[in-house]
Amino acid sequence: MLADIRSQTAKELETQFHTRGQPAYRVKQLLEWLYVHRVTSWEAMTNLPKALRDDLRQHYSIAALKLIRKQGARDTTQKFLWRLGDQALIESVLIPANPALYGEPSDRHTLCVSTQVGCAYGCKFCASGLAGWKRNLRVEEIVEQVLAVERWNEGEAKVQSPKSEVQSPKSQVPSQGLGDESCPEPGAPDPASATAQRVEPAPPTRLVSNLVIMGMGEPLANYENLLKALKILNAPWGGGIGARKITISTSGLAPQIRQLANEPLQFRLAISLHGATDETRNKIMPVNLKYPLRELTAACDYYQQKKARMITFEYVLIAGVNDGLEQVKPLAALARRLVAKVNLIPYNRVEGLSWERPSEEVQEAFLSALEKQKVSATLRREKGGDIDAACGQLRLKTEREMANFRSAEADAGETEGAGAQP
Ligand code: SAH
Ligand code: SF4
Repeated sequence: MLADIRSQTAKELETQFHTRGQPAYRVKQLLEWLYVHRVTSWEAMTNLPKALRDDLRQHYSIAALKLIRKQGARDTTQKFLWRLGDQALIESVLIPANPALYGEPSDRHTLCVSTQVGCAYGCKFCASGLAGWKRNLRVEEIVEQVLAVERWNEGEAKVQSPKSEVQSPKSQVPSQGLGDESCPEPGAPDPASATAQRVEPAPPTRLVSNLVIMGMGEPLANYENLLKALKILNAPWGGGIGARKITISTSGLAPQIRQLANEPLQFRLAISLHGATDETRNKIMPVNLKYPLRELTAACDYYQQKKARMITFEYVLIAGVNDGLEQVKPLAALARRLVAKVNLIPYNRVEGLSWERPSEEVQEAFLSALEKQKVSATLRREKGGDIDAACGQLRLKTEREMANFRSAEADAGETEGAGAQP
């Protein structure tokens, strides 16, 4: 299999171009096509000589994510379900500006990206872990989630501006009989748009200013690929997203937290705590048996010493599990020790699981008890089944629908039933 060109750093490309006898400025031109114009075809790179493009085509792939479903209206939280080359499904979530949740206020958008197909950590309340772990995402599959959303956004902007000469490509996505919410744009431009880009390559605007690595999967279990993808997304020649605007969320992989603390880049760290005692954490997070709180918090101490004031605790409030006020004191003690902020997130129901979110009164009582302990805390107050927090649910829903769809087909004797997902 050819390496995808978006898995390479500028330095790696410079070395490879040098061996091919290509001048360094060609790398700069290539990077502009990849990360400014975000093209997904070699033909579109019109200022590169044809011989070079042919050579690149033989050595690298440049695969776009396929958008198969989108949920949520523009200007609200939007979920994107992507299909990868091996048909696996992953999600990204685009969240409009939400000041000071993970860092500085922003007037732009935060993208939540996935790092694995499924998850091996099996937290009992989470949709991503339900079907187990399938594989790590490759570097370019992480990077491409940002590029594909930006490309989608540009397509949308062109659709909304009828005077534009460049037309948005039509969806090439088969509907799968899933009753899709609007799905106006595939991941990749078609050859027609590539031609249009040749005529008028206006520099596209950037939509995504912040990243949270909180989609499907445990990011620190895909450490190497994640770090390389983040270097590319952070680099001025790449995604240009500041490291302080990138938050990595982990269920608590202590050794990798220490490793991350030693990286030169200043990423923010979110710890999915969900319980302030081992007893509570053990009930819902098997990872706590491997890295109990003492070990996890020691790794956080180390991160805190190295990075200073960069830790957030995620605390999903689950009725009758971790919403009791006896959790408040130990939680506050941990937060004070690590100078951490606490984000309280009411649990989002997952179909097939029996966990529930606590009542609003219980949520508010937990928040004010924390505040009384002089801890900086926020409570997400969206109404109803908001789609912010829980990546993995659209994929789960879609896989279930596809399995039902296939088994209905099989029942009708039209095709052989494919293995149903849990
Ligand atoms: N594996 C990493 C990152 C992905 S999960 C981690 O666990 O941190 C991102 C966040 O969503 C975690 O805090 C996770 O606990 C939370 N989450 C998972 N399922 C949820 C649900 N149904 N409702 C609310 N939050 C959920
Ligand atoms: Fe994996 Fe995070 Fe879900 Fe736990 S909460 S199963 S670590 S994705």
